[in-house]
Amino acid sequence: MFVGHYGPSFAIKSVRPEIPLWLLFIAVQLVDVAWAILVLMGVEKVRIVPGITASNPFDLYYMPFTHSLVAAIFWSVAAALLVRPLLGLTTLAAAVWVGAAVFSHWVLDLLVHRPDLPLYDDTMKVGLGLWNHPVIAFSVEAVLLFGGMVLYLERTTPINSIGRIARMPPPNLSLNPDASPAALARRPLGAG
Ligand SMILES: [Zn+2]
Repeated sequence: MFVGHYGPSFAIKSVRPEIPLWLLFIAVQLVDVAWAILVLMGVEKVRIVPGITASNPFDLYYMPFTHSLVAAIFWSVAAALLVRPLLGLTTLAAAVWVGAAVFSHWVLDLLVHRPDLPLYDDTMKVGLGLWNHPVIAFSVEAVLLFGGMVLYLERTTPINSIGRIARMPPPNLSLNPDASPAALARRPLGAG
């Protein structure tokens, strides 16, 4: 999963506005950040196998420390425990939601990955394989991302002019008889 991971961060922000959005963005991708670091260190493994899925050629054949179910639970609990002392989030509920954001990554990866997500260590691998159905995989990503953004925009208040402009409704000409297309057409030229 790619941009779809950000859907839960917008959705969680809409119910827990006290959690910074940047923190939720990091939380939902924490597992992949750790994965990239461990791949660069040679601890977890990926190779290119053209055609291994219809969407991308990544054979993610060894990633027990970031993408096993046990590891995902570990990262989620660790994030929930550390986010309060490190970042000063005040409520336990906020910390739990940050943990849930971290865990959402594994759940969404489960939808799209081929069976390369171990339940623990490097064994009992699962994955529902939507990457082999690119149109469905793309649609799921779009629904997640835009669904989360809609929730966020509906429930939060813009704090600056950029946010207010983004939220401005389109002008409704029909509510103002003087501004309706018919009235504007009747107005003499130069009458402003
Ligand atoms: Zn991932």
